[in-house]
Amino acid sequence: MKVTFPHLGSMHIFCKAIAETAGIPYIVPPETSRKTLTLGVLHSNECICLPFKMILGNFIEALQMGADTIVMVGSGPPCRLGLYDLVQKVILEDMGLHYRWLTIPPRLTWQAIWKNHEETKELRKELSARNIFLFPYGLWMGWKKMMACEALEQLAMKVRPIEIKRGETQKRLKKALSWVDEAKTPRVLEEAIQKGKALLQEMEQDRSRIPFKVAIIGELYTVMDPHINRGVEQKLGELGVEVTRTSWFSTHIMRSLRKNKADQTSERTRFFEASKAYLGYDVGAECNVSVGEAILRSKEGYDGVVHLMPFACMPETTASGILTKVGKDWDIPILTLILDEQEIEGRIQTLLEAFVEMLEWKRRAA
Ligand code: SF4
Repeated sequence: MKVTFPHLGSMHIFCKAIAETAGIPYIVPPETSRKTLTLGVLHSNECICLPFKMILGNFIEALQMGADTIVMVGSGPPCRLGLYDLVQKVILEDMGLHYRWLTIPPRLTWQAIWKNHEETKELRKELSARNIFLFPYGLWMGWKKMMACEALEQLAMKVRPIEIKRGETQKRLKKALSWVDEAKTPRVLEEAIQKGKALLQEMEQDRSRIPFKVAIIGELYTVMDPHINRGVEQKLGELGVEVTRTSWFSTHIMRSLRKNKADQTSERTRFFEASKAYLGYDVGAECNVSVGEAILRSKEGYDGVVHLMPFACMPETTASGILTKVGKDWDIPILTLILDEQEIEGRIQTLLEAFVEMLEWKRRAA
C-alpha cells in the first residue's frame, strides 16, 4: 500500500507526518505545477471548478509515481466539493489508473462511518498491528505539524509587509516549513518551530512602515493554496499589506468535528449572522461567510478585502454580486479575483498593484 493525498497549501506536510509516524508507506505528489494543472484540465469537464482540476492533477501524478491509495476529504451539497470524490473516481478509472479510495467524511455521522468502514475493509488487511497501534500518535503528530505550519504562515503574514529585502520572508518561511516537515519527534518539532519563528522575527524589518490591513476571503481551497491563487498572499504582503484570513485547515477540521465553538467556529457564526442583512438563507460553501466577513472587516477598520473565487464557482459567484453592494454600503474597497487555468499571474500582479495604489490614495485623502 502507498497512500497519497492532495498537495494543497501545507497539507502535504501534515498528511505525510501522519503516514510516516504510523509507518504507512506514502507518496507525496510533486509540488503543484503547470504540468499538474495541464493534466487536471485535460481530463476534466471544462466547466468544473479549478480546485477540482488541481487536485485531479495531483492524483494523476501521484498514481503515475506508484501510489495506489488515495485519501480525499468529502463534503455535502450544495457545493461541488461533495461530488469531487465520485467524479474523480470515474475519471481515474476511465484513464486506466488503478487505486483504492478512502474518503474522509466531512461529518462523523453513522452513514459516513459505515462508508469509511466499507472503504477501508481491504486496506485494513494490509496494515500491521504496529501501523494500527501508531496511528493515533501519527494523527497527533500530523495535528502538531499543521498547527506549526499555520503559526509560521501567520507570523510570515505579519512580517512580510515590513521586510527590507523583498522576498526574504518567503525564503525564510520556506526554510522554516522544511524544518517542520523534516522533524520526526515532538522534541525536534518543537525546536523546529522555535527556530523557524526566530528566523522570521530576526529578519531585517522596517518598523516605521504602517502596513495596510486586508482580509482575504472566498472559496476555501483558493484562499488556502498559493498555487491556485497564484501567491496572492505573498504578492499583497510584498506590496506592503498585512493580510489576514480565517480559512485554515485547522479551523475547517475543528468545524467539521464541531469543536472549538468558543473561537474559530463562533467567528464563522459571526460572519454568517452578519451576512443575513443581504442573504436570507445559506447559499452553501463559503458564500455567506465571505459576505459577512467583508461587512465585519469594514466595521473593524480594515483597509480592504480581496475576494478569491474559482471561475464557475456557484457560491462565490453569488457572493461576488452581493459584495459589490457591500463594498458601497460599508465603504470598503473589495477586489474580486476570478481564478482559472489561464496564465494569469501577470494580470493578478497588476490588479493587486492597482488595488494597493487605490488604498494609498484613500489613506492620503482621509
Ligand atoms: S466552493 Fe466553489 S470552487 Fe469550491 S468546490 Fe464548491 S463550487 Fe467548486
